[in-house]
Amino acid sequence: MNNSASNFAPATSHDGLTDTMPDSAVPPTHQNQARSSALFAQAQNIMPGGVNSPVRAFGAVGGTPRFMERGAGAYLWDADGNKYIDYVGSWGPLILGHAAPLINDAVRAQLERGTTFGAPTALEVEMARVVCAAVPSIEMVRMVNSGTEAVMGALRAARGWAMRDNSKRRKLIKFAGCYHGHADALLVQAGSGATTLGAPDSAGVTPAQIADTVLGHYNDIEGTRDLIHEVGAELAVVAVEPMPANMGLVHPKSGFLEMLREETERVGALLLFDEVMTGFRVAKGGYQSLCDIKPDLTTLGKIIGGGFPVGAYGGRRDVMEMVSPAGPVYQAGTLSGNPIAMTAGLATLNALDDESYAQLEKRGAQLEVGIKGALKQHGIAAQLQRQGSMWTLFFNANPVQSYEQAKASDLTMYGRFFHAMLERGVYLPPAQFEAAFVSLCHGEDEINATIEAVNGALGVAKQ
Ligand SMILES: *Cc1c(COP(=O)(O)O)cnc(C)c1O
Repeated sequence: MNNSASNFAPATSHDGLTDTMPDSAVPPTHQNQARSSALFAQAQNIMPGGVNSPVRAFGAVGGTPRFMERGAGAYLWDADGNKYIDYVGSWGPLILGHAAPLINDAVRAQLERGTTFGAPTALEVEMARVVCAAVPSIEMVRMVNSGTEAVMGALRAARGWAMRDNSKRRKLIKFAGCYHGHADALLVQAGSGATTLGAPDSAGVTPAQIADTVLGHYNDIEGTRDLIHEVGAELAVVAVEPMPANMGLVHPKSGFLEMLREETERVGALLLFDEVMTGFRVAKGGYQSLCDIKPDLTTLGKIIGGGFPVGAYGGRRDVMEMVSPAGPVYQAGTLSGNPIAMTAGLATLNALDDESYAQLEKRGAQLEVGIKGALKQHGIAAQLQRQGSMWTLFFNANPVQSYEQAKASDLTMYGRFFHAMLERGVYLPPAQFEAAFVSLCHGEDEINATIEAVNGALGVAKQ
């Protein structure tokens, strides 16, 4: 199919609300935030921090979070009527843009047939077929309701498999700066947030809950090889974001992922690629298809839900057959495989083809060239790190290859840049340690308007 931006443009484009960006001569007009401020004040009184997920509260950049009211294509509108080009995309799922007509039509049709049955459906079988066909390392898959749940299930399956004949083989290696959701055992240096070596990131997590979690350092090839052998016969699984994006986007050093594959095999442990963000985002086969490494287990989420709450874990048949009711590893879900979520996910996955990824790469590359040009013009040494439609602008003089380096970025400057972009009608992730996303609705006009905003915002940010 032809994935031009207009193909995904919402049907409501006649209402005058999805017109292109205001003329460049127009000064920033996104200062009005009376209603967002009022809602935030109200929310803080009755919801912890005023939000249902911490980063939304703008804690990392300061100021008042914008309460969003409507999305269409590449755009978002807040409660005060401000319009933004959106690069958050609900943190990854919205690869087709907001309110994609083909998702909405499919969901509407499914609504008429019922929203949940708590019994198997053909939709789940089709979803499993599509996922297994797209990601060859996945021979069997289990659907769940979030990325967090997917990782929890995958780790339990991995340990069930690893401990089947050796109860000592229960340790997990994870990497500083990699985020795998909010399960207790994984809240150790889990991306953005205050961290202490060897201690949980979160209150309420006991030492016992992280006793089997061993911390590695992403892109440290020699150190990690040693660590894998040190844990050796006690190692059940190494979990990694193959291309981390929860410390901002960081590329693997050549040989790092290859080493993980070889050494886990050598000591008899499993390798889990957490592709909740990169799955169907960087390629139909995920990052594993780009680096050509076959993990034993993979977790998915975000895009496969098409904007609804979904996660999935899958991989080797012998490991997945450990999962109940096929095997002894318990895992269940009242709404797992939910018909609405499966419908939205399938509509999304079926819309993605080679042309889609070529289009996303093209727009991503245009944005990269424009931003790098603007950085040069302003004499700012920063790093635009990108993979296809995912990108992070690190205010850092050196390339970022590790969590330590990511943390050395100028967070105050990012905050100034973020707010200057917001005022210019561009909604970026409200934290340095996050990836931004281009969707298939981001056309040439949106990219050009964004580059122009970057030019203005960098002038503000460098002061
Ligand atoms: C978003 C994310 C998760 C958690 O998914 P939720 O749906 O937020 O629970 C896990 N792993 C990675 C790599 C993610 O990006």
